[in-house]
Amino acid sequence: MNRILIAEDEPRIAAFVERGLQSHGFATAVVGDGLTAYERARGGDCDLLILDLGLPVSDGFTVLRKLREGRITLPVIILTARDTVPDIVAGLEGGADDYVSKPFAFEELLARVRLRLRREVAPEATVLRVGDLALDLRTRRAHVDGRVAELSSREFALAEAFLRNPDQVLTREQLLSRVWGFDYDPGSNIVDVYVRYLRRKVGTERVETVRGVGYRLKAM
Ligand code: CA
Repeated sequence: MNRILIAEDEPRIAAFVERGLQSHGFATAVVGDGLTAYERARGGDCDLLILDLGLPVSDGFTVLRKLREGRITLPVIILTARDTVPDIVAGLEGGADDYVSKPFAFEELLARVRLRLRREVAPEATVLRVGDLALDLRTRRAHVDGRVAELSSREFALAEAFLRNPDQVLTREQLLSRVWGFDYDPGSNIVDVYVRYLRRKVGTERVETVRGVGYRLKAM
């Protein structure tokens, strides 16, 4: 079980975070000042520290600095009401792994905690497959019904966007931003043109037009 140390001097917030984490299977410990936080974090019996910046005795920045100077690599998520950019930058430069600014939704904090604790990131699939259409992300080759289809790099990127979201309608704007980048003219018909190219190579019926919205990849 992962043990999370919560350094927070506001009892209401500490209790909110502690209850939430416990209900998701974490063990927790709460400390209310910076010096105790530093000592517990250094002690090595916790897997992650949630660190409020405004703490009595020794503030969060000082705790973080002392930990990092002491080469303690414990993941630290800063919890702060000081959501101004300089504070966030200072926190991250001081060695924090992430931050959540108050007020926050517990789910957001939970997602960040889980992300930091995930030691082994599952290797990304190198082949995306939907029905008999497959994209090999290493060789940049497409296979349709067992034969190789030669795709240009844009066509490949477009196919990849579809294969990552099978059976889901993707709007022209989504496709533009994923394949061409955000600065592309939204009035352009380039998406339609490239969908046409792609259809020629992988089969027209695979990419369905959703009138007025965009396109959807069908599993065949
Ligand atoms: Ca505080």
